[in-house]
Amino acid sequence: MAKVVECPECGCEIEVADDVLQGEILECPDCAVELEVVSVEPLAVELAPEEEEDWGE
Ligand SMILES: [Zn+2]
Repeated sequence: MAKVVECPECGCEIEVADDVLQGEILECPDCAVELEVVSVEPLAVELAPEEEEDWGE
């Protein structure tokens, strides 16, 4: 059963493989942003640290 996580960038729901690993990079199918899996249980993602610096808040 696939997990679903919300994209922090655009808010869409992303399907994640059930055996996803912490540290894995996902790409949002909607806004194409890269997301890093920071936690598997519970599932949580953050914008992958790469482009720009900090988005601030
Ligand atoms: Zn997105």
